[in-house]
Amino acid sequence: MNTLFPDIIDSTSSPSDALPSVNRPAAPASTPENFLSLNYPLRPAWVEIDLNKLKRNFELIHRDKPKGLQVVSVVKDEGYGHGALAVARTALACGASFLAISTVEEAMALRDRGIPTRLLLLGDRQEAEFPWCLAHDLTCCVSEPQSIAKLGQLAARAGKRIPVHLKINTGMNRYGVRWDEVASLVDLIASTKSLFLEGALSHFAQSDETDKTFALLQLAHFNEALDIISERGCSLKLRHLCNSGGFLDLPQAHFDMVRLGILPLGVFPSSVCRRIPGIEPVMSVKARIAAIQNLQPGDTVGYGMRFKAESPRRIAVLPIGYGDSFPRVRNQGCALIHGRRAPLVGGVAMDAITVDITDIPTAQLWDEAVIMGRQGAEEITVHEVARLKNSVSYDILVGWRTRLPRLYVGQDVLP
Ligand SMILES: *Cc1c(COP(=O)(O)O)cnc(C)c1O
Repeated sequence: MNTLFPDIIDSTSSPSDALPSVNRPAAPASTPENFLSLNYPLRPAWVEIDLNKLKRNFELIHRDKPKGLQVVSVVKDEGYGHGALAVARTALACGASFLAISTVEEAMALRDRGIPTRLLLLGDRQEAEFPWCLAHDLTCCVSEPQSIAKLGQLAARAGKRIPVHLKINTGMNRYGVRWDEVASLVDLIASTKSLFLEGALSHFAQSDETDKTFALLQLAHFNEALDIISERGCSLKLRHLCNSGGFLDLPQAHFDMVRLGILPLGVFPSSVCRRIPGIEPVMSVKARIAAIQNLQPGDTVGYGMRFKAESPRRIAVLPIGYGDSFPRVRNQGCALIHGRRAPLVGGVAMDAITVDITDIPTAQLWDEAVIMGRQGAEEITVHEVARLKNSVSYDILVGWRTRLPRLYVGQDVLP
């Protein structure tokens, strides 16, 4: 199963006020999904997703959380590169009550694959997207009067009364209405009979660091906004503020629901946030040794001759490169082979890296190497890869290119 290639929406058909058709053409024959189903030989480099670990992480989170606290599984950007459908199905089997995504396309790909669950669209919508949201029961965040009016009109015309969530800006200054300016929007929604204010949310700018000063200020702003909302006579069913970091470290900010993206994937958002024992990374990246070179002293490796052997060296070529999103480093980083660290030598090419296996004499052609993940007692964490790229774990998880096949382990745990 490869969920990375949802059908493409015909961008030439502008969604007018008429509700759009849900029929779109099937995926073309050349998608990796089809390669896999045809038993096409996988390239010897891939992303492995362990669904047993994903399920276990969700179970550990459910055991850790207070009873009654609802979980939104955030599966935007293909479930952070793990496959939105696989993460969504596992989350739902483990009791998640909502799924969240960032784009209408992501939402419709889930609907097309038979997910009937409540879907929350994060971020703001263009008016032109509202007909699609209505047709597919996607829950929108709203934060300004014009889109509330438009969504209200369309819902009325369709004979529906739909839930909306008020997005409140408590200090992140990205999306949302300022926390002390919510009153008029609450009144506007209350007076729009085709809408009802089901929820209110905000988002932390910093929740996983030791210093919680700003997070607590945002929490105070959120509470201020909630007070204004209840003073206007509106009682909210779903108040939500926490991402993974907030869920772990700020129990006083849990409210009714938490929005978890990275934690169920087995990656802690920072090195200092609280740990839940037993949580393990779901994604690994692997490749097989595709060639071995024996170097004489003075021989060099790769473009720009960036590595020069001082002594006889044995070099393994792994068929994965910056074209797969491996960080473009030189003589930095390593791969795991036979449970040991093999240092990268030379530069990273588009389709290959070279590692020194002189100290791993048993390594042979087509042996498995781990680029990210665990092998034996050794582990290359996503954070370690992120450091090579001067980036963060989130960027590495979502970054692995789709030309790397996704291999799912433990498919049987899916409902
Ligand atoms: C991505 C996102 C989340 C999930 O954050 P994690 O740190 O991955 O848990 C939650 N809320 C919003 C608004 C988001 O955009």
